[in-house]
Amino acid sequence: MKGTMETRQIAVIAEHRNGVLTPGTLETLSFARELESLLNLKTNIVIAGKSIEGLTYDIAGMTGMDVIGIEGENLDLYNCESYLAALEKPLEELDPAYICTPHSAMGYDLAPRLAVRLKASCITAVEKIGKKGKSVLFSRSQWNGKIILEKEPVVKRAVLTVLSGSWPEPDGRPEKTGEVTIITIAAETKNSRTIEIREAVRTGFDLAKAEVIVSAGKGLGKEENLPLIYKLSELFPKSAVGASRAACDAGWLDYGHQIGITGKTVSPKLYVACGISGSTQHIAGMKGSQMVVAINTDPAAAIFSVADYCIVEDLATFIPCVIEKYHKLFSSHKESE
Ligand SMILES: Cc1cc2nc3c(=O)[nH]c(=O)nc-3n(C[C@H](O)[C@H](O)[C@H](O)COP(=O)(O)OP(=O)(O)OC[C@H]3O[C@@H](n4cnc5c(N)ncnc54)[C@H](O)[C@@H]3O)c2cc1C
Repeated sequence: MKGTMETRQIAVIAEHRNGVLTPGTLETLSFARELESLLNLKTNIVIAGKSIEGLTYDIAGMTGMDVIGIEGENLDLYNCESYLAALEKPLEELDPAYICTPHSAMGYDLAPRLAVRLKASCITAVEKIGKKGKSVLFSRSQWNGKIILEKEPVVKRAVLTVLSGSWPEPDGRPEKTGEVTIITIAAETKNSRTIEIREAVRTGFDLAKAEVIVSAGKGLGKEENLPLIYKLSELFPKSAVGASRAACDAGWLDYGHQIGITGKTVSPKLYVACGISGSTQHIAGMKGSQMVVAINTDPAAAIFSVADYCIVEDLATFIPCVIEKYHKLFSSHKESE
């Protein structure tokens, strides 16, 4: 299994749920393909789970890549300890130059720990690959999209997490199928155990069908300001209220409202971002909007780079003005009829 200097390897750690690869894993495979063609490397997929032989063969057929399936009793649900125990030895043997995984809850939990075990660099939330001379550079954004960093691994091996929405899912089916290796590992855990994964309860509104979405961010300041967002949204028919993850984390809105890589992807006619900084994770979920209006007190907020109308103002001042203006306009319309 060991890679030589001539055939250095890429390993993609696949994430799967209910017997299906996650969209983030498919995007990570496209990322690996780009890296492959840039550096003449070969990609292997590594997948861990309890009974995954069937899935392993499916993936080898679907991708044409060689797949290493690691089976173990403790690998039924993702657990950092059992996954580390399962992955370390096969990855040491494969000796890949790059180990890639989606920048998901699993990926960013696992990647830094794996990097420590394998004495590798760790670069997370990669959005772009570049080459400068012989160096390969990986770009990621920082401070909610205000700056882009280009990073180069400083040791011979790197663990990378790939930001969702940065590469398309691969299309087409390869002519040949990849080779499959199945390994069984005990993957004992001493300190933790995953009992179950529970889906969040979803509320009834439909963000996907809304023509106008008014979204609240951390800049809302407090839950008491939430009626401002709802009142603004109610001015438009077929509208819904969205949120950034920070607003959901604050407990102001249910996670069903969250827009972004770990929330919903939306493409309304109008998207109004209120007090949202514009992190790459948020923008990934709303960049398909036809028109974007952003209200933010910080003129350098990254959301303004994707906005058609940039309003530098306190939302608690601006939104009531818009609502008042609308009602005045609407009532004068009625009177003149
Ligand atoms: C793996 C991962 C996945 C993630 N997935 C998502 C996701 O799906 N969706 C998502 O949204 N985030 C996601 N995040 C979080 C993301 O990185 C940001 O932390 C989050 O988007 C920030 O939310 P925010 O813009 O509301 O808050 P902040 O970044 O705190 O920004 C608040 C903004 O409000 C402005 N502001 C402050 N006061 C006012 C005021 N009175 N009036 C107007 N503006 C004001 C500020 O200038 C600032 O720009 C994810 C992070 C990780 C690591």
